[in-house]
Amino acid sequence: MRYSIFSVIGQALQGNTGWKPVWRDAELRPAYDVVIVGGGGHGLATAFYLAKEHGMHNVAVLEKSWLGSGNVGRNTTIIRSNYLLPGNTAFYEWSMKLWEGLEQDLNYNAMVSQRGVLNLYHSDAQRDAYARRGNAMRLHGVDAELLDREQVRAMLPYLDFDNARFPIQGGLLQRRGGTVRHDAVAWGYARGADQRGVDIVQNCEVTGIRVEGGRVVGVDTSKGFMRAGKVGARRAPAIPRASPRWRACGCRSRATCCRPSSRRASSRSSTTSSPSAPAISTSASPTRAGWCSAATSTATTPTPSAAICRRSRTCARAAWR
Ligand SMILES: Cc1cc2nc3c(=O)[nH]c(=O)nc-3n(C[C@H](O)[C@H](O)[C@H](O)COP(=O)(O)OP(=O)(O)OC[C@H]3O[C@@H](n4cnc5c(N)ncnc54)[C@H](O)[C@@H]3O)c2cc1C
Repeated sequence: MRYSIFSVIGQALQGNTGWKPVWRDAELRPAYDVVIVGGGGHGLATAFYLAKEHGMHNVAVLEKSWLGSGNVGRNTTIIRSNYLLPGNTAFYEWSMKLWEGLEQDLNYNAMVSQRGVLNLYHSDAQRDAYARRGNAMRLHGVDAELLDREQVRAMLPYLDFDNARFPIQGGLLQRRGGTVRHDAVAWGYARGADQRGVDIVQNCEVTGIRVEGGRVVGVDTSKGFMRAGKVGARRAPAIPRASPRWRACGCRSRATCCRPSSRRASSRSSTTSSPSAPAISTSASPTRAGWCSAATSTATTPTPSAAICRRSRTCARAAWR
């Protein structure tokens, strides 16, 4: 079924009794060209684009729980491409452009709202870091504006500008950034992939990747063995017998591993949004920029960023790598 104003009106007139499930409850086949582990945003998008762009339809997405039960169903919903490093900027800008046409591509309302993303700065050092980031973005053709305090006030007069601890000095704005309904992204990709023949199997946990003669031949799952030409594990899903990262560095358990599972996990920026306002990301707590500016700051009163900076081994230079 194609979604449109006519299908909505037609269904309304029938008391909404004619809607079909958004994806099939697929039966497992014994073999697939590609098996994707994890039905989150990455797994479902991979399946969708394999089918749409590369004509690969003999593909299965295996999800141990329900679709969107992972990070994609609980994130902060922000979309943006306000990154600093050259590789990042181009990559995220490409993603940003995908968001701009995604709903038409999927014929699914993912509630993409380009209301703008504004990262506030609260110190001179943080402003300098944001100016640097904004310049890098603009050099890569990405929109960025460095706002001063009065420009932020004109845009968001209800913010607390007299907060003594984190006075708002301005912000870095990306007007094309915004928000999206996170779980609708999973559902939209799932629907698009399903329509192109991809099998989406929920409640199917991958418990191991089988290797014969140095080649991956399939996956063991809670529903039995499945042969696969290629296996893609999206977002490092927990597969008990498949390459745990913490063993690679010689650590004895994930809990005591010397490598942080994600540097972003250390970032504590908080975000709010309202229907009409930009999504606001305050960076009083350490974002990457916050950490580095704090590290180079000569301020005698340690900011929270600086305090964490001194304690953290992953700070400053490591975070910029
Ligand atoms: C609190 C929070 C806020 C965030 N905010 C933002 C934001 O504002 N903007 C942004 O762009 N990103 C944000 N992110 C990051 C973003 O949500 C993730 O990068 C993205 O959702 C990852 O998608 P994924 O498909 O890789 O992982 P997930 O969505 O986690 O999907 C992985 C799936 O794999 C399944 N799985 C795991 N192991 C197995 C197995 N053995 N067998 C079968 N299935 C398995 C899981 O059940 C899960 O459904 C945020 C993340 C979090 C946690």
